[in-house]
Amino acid sequence: MGNGFMAFGDGTAAPGGIVTIGEILVEIMATEPGHGFREPIGLVGPFPSGAPAIFIDQVGKLGFPCGMVSCVGADDFALVNLERLAADGVDVSAIETDPDQTTGSAFVRYRPGGERDFVYNIRNSAVGRTRLTEAAHELLRRSSHLHVMGSSLASGRIIEEIKTAIDIIKGQGGTVSFDPNIRKEILDAPGMREALGYMLAHCDIYLPSGDELTLLTESKSEGGAIAEIFGLGVSAIVIKHGAQGASYHDAREHRRQPAFTVTEIDPTGAGDCFGATFITCRLQGRSVSECLRYAAASGALAVTRKGPMEGTATFAELDALIVSQRRGILPDRPAPPAQGAGILAELAPARAEGRPFGITSVCSAHPLVIEAALLQAREDGTTALIEATCNQVNHRGGYTGMTPADFRDFVHAVAEDVGFPRARIILGGDHLGPSPWKSLLAEDAMAEAAAMVEAYVQAGFLKLHLDTSMGCAGEPVALADQQTAERAARLAAVAEQAALMAGTRPYYVIGTEVPTPGGALEAVPETQVTAPEAPLATYGIHKHIFMSEGLKSVLDRVVALVVQPGVEHGNETVTRYDPEAATALTASLGQLPGLVFEAHATDYQTPAALAALVRDGFAILKVGPALTFALREALYALDEIAAILVPELDPEVEPLPAVMERLMLLNPDHWRSHYHGDTANLSILRHYSYSDRIRYYWPEAEAVMAVDRLFQRLDGVVIPPPLISQFLPRFHERVEAGTLTATARTLSVEAVRDVLRGYAAACRPR
Ligand code: ATP
Ligand code: MG
Repeated sequence: MGNGFMAFGDGTAAPGGIVTIGEILVEIMATEPGHGFREPIGLVGPFPSGAPAIFIDQVGKLGFPCGMVSCVGADDFALVNLERLAADGVDVSAIETDPDQTTGSAFVRYRPGGERDFVYNIRNSAVGRTRLTEAAHELLRRSSHLHVMGSSLASGRIIEEIKTAIDIIKGQGGTVSFDPNIRKEILDAPGMREALGYMLAHCDIYLPSGDELTLLTESKSEGGAIAEIFGLGVSAIVIKHGAQGASYHDAREHRRQPAFTVTEIDPTGAGDCFGATFITCRLQGRSVSECLRYAAASGALAVTRKGPMEGTATFAELDALIVSQRRGILPDRPAPPAQGAGILAELAPARAEGRPFGITSVCSAHPLVIEAALLQAREDGTTALIEATCNQVNHRGGYTGMTPADFRDFVHAVAEDVGFPRARIILGGDHLGPSPWKSLLAEDAMAEAAAMVEAYVQAGFLKLHLDTSMGCAGEPVALADQQTAERAARLAAVAEQAALMAGTRPYYVIGTEVPTPGGALEAVPETQVTAPEAPLATYGIHKHIFMSEGLKSVLDRVVALVVQPGVEHGNETVTRYDPEAATALTASLGQLPGLVFEAHATDYQTPAALAALVRDGFAILKVGPALTFALREALYALDEIAAILVPELDPEVEPLPAVMERLMLLNPDHWRSHYHGDTANLSILRHYSYSDRIRYYWPEAEAVMAVDRLFQRLDGVVIPPPLISQFLPRFHERVEAGTLTATARTLSVEAVRDVLRGYAAACRPR
């Protein structure tokens, strides 16, 4: 025994693939850490799983012939696995489907300390019926290596089948590897120790992790255990030490393989991927050091993905990690198919093909606005793009007090309420750069910006607008293009590293030809259409610097440039889009293949102007104040309606405008520098300005309570059409026609949706 190992790497191995026998199951994970499953909690899954299944999927990803013997039920949990394995190149012909059985499952929850709680249904699942069918014999005939996991030795019956398979493989001159992969608790299950001992004595390569080395040996020292195991005929031992790397031992040499530096998201499956890659590389005849390097890369990539089988990797991905860590940067890892965000990459090609379409970017944190946006996207069958701005949401909380993860959870909660699928939501981060910290020295402000960008990416934001043009303490107000691009590259590198860990591929928007975040300060802003040279220069310098910084892959995902098409709104004026004035700018897009323009402050444009913008290449239309403006109109009107229909008996209760006025006077920070004039004028602007600075006050507790109270007063009240005609005439026809329910909440959301409908019409493909 053991001499089979010589077949590894010397090119004389019988041609044939790798086979494994064992459990297939799905894993369902708790979304929050905690203890056990004794109360309702959030879960995510089913993920394909089972140690031997992960192992063989990794072999398949490497393009090596492989197959699996197992048994599953005739259910979706089986299909989740079978489809994945087949797609990754695993021969599934010997996985039997038993219609009387159920596919195994495991519920997993991480405790705060990192240990895990499980609820398993494996032993009594279909896998218990695993047998060497005719198809299994056929697969074994085509295989030259069998891999066995200790976790698969769950019943006397499967142990017998595995022993038979070992005999078949060995009889063909093949080899066997064994990963004990066992928890101490089940070591004392009946027959377990014997089965493990049998496997140890019949394998050529032994792949224990850490303390498993001495679990089955008399000797409790590492050296003693290794000698003892060699004495059993095992020819090579690879010991896995998690983030500490691995070590290799055979009769000739002992080697250490350090681990690659990655951020661990989910450790499950690292050992399985490591083992699969090591065995595959050995069978390909690679040197021990090369096998170890690839295996360590495989284990490292496995932990960067949530879900047990989600971290398997191709040789290209392993090479990318190895090369990049040599250079000290992290590679660009292809992510799973874009969930809705891929639409951002389609804007430019669609325009090039003469069927331009656009996307509405909703910039608001008001729950009713988010609700309206999701309902509208559902009605239109489109993806919803929701954006947060650097000073509004950041790693320190921003003025809303929300981190990017909080904002994501908030949007997802609204989505859950209205039944809108998360996969169709793109979260965007706007003006990501040092702006909120520009009073600090550049180095400090950029450190904050980097932490913010990282937090955005970690939270799953897939559209990132990098804006680094503003000067920090001691610098000019606006920086030169070169320095702007260098800072953008720095933030892009941070974003990419975080994206690698999160398993996402964000899209980027660059350019800063727009007012500062938060809107223009002038009462009647002077609007200048961006000169056509500007986007060409901006893109040119970014391209040059991104390329020289090794960020080509980022460049490939830059989908848009922010420019000023000549739209703006002051307090009481709107500068309408003038296609003629933008002709040269529009033409410059011809020299920017793969890109569209993003227009900010498109609020209050007419639907026709919006449609012209999309036609002319301004495919991403940002809107914010116009949405809360419409909402405020509806709320104030409803307040008047309530005063008539449900008079407030408590004299202490103020009308809604009075509450808002008080809040705005109490804290004038959000409007003072934007509004000018005498006392009467200021009061009008506070409530009715197009700039809609009042939007900053709706989240305040008192405002939330006042709106809640208004909704409560009108709860169950169907507003009679004549009152709609008086106070909300825009909705009168719809209410009369019976297409709109005249309740307070519905009307508030409908007011926002009316604005969004103009955008939807403009964005629709032609
Ligand atoms: P499991 O049974 O949970 O899949 P294991 O205990 O069999 O895991 P580990 O030692 O955890 O195996 O991982 C195998 C290899 O993967 C390690 O030797 C190491 O090279 C790599 N690896 C694991 N965790 C990390 C990590 N956090 N960072 C980098 N590499 C890691
Ligand atoms: Mg393991």
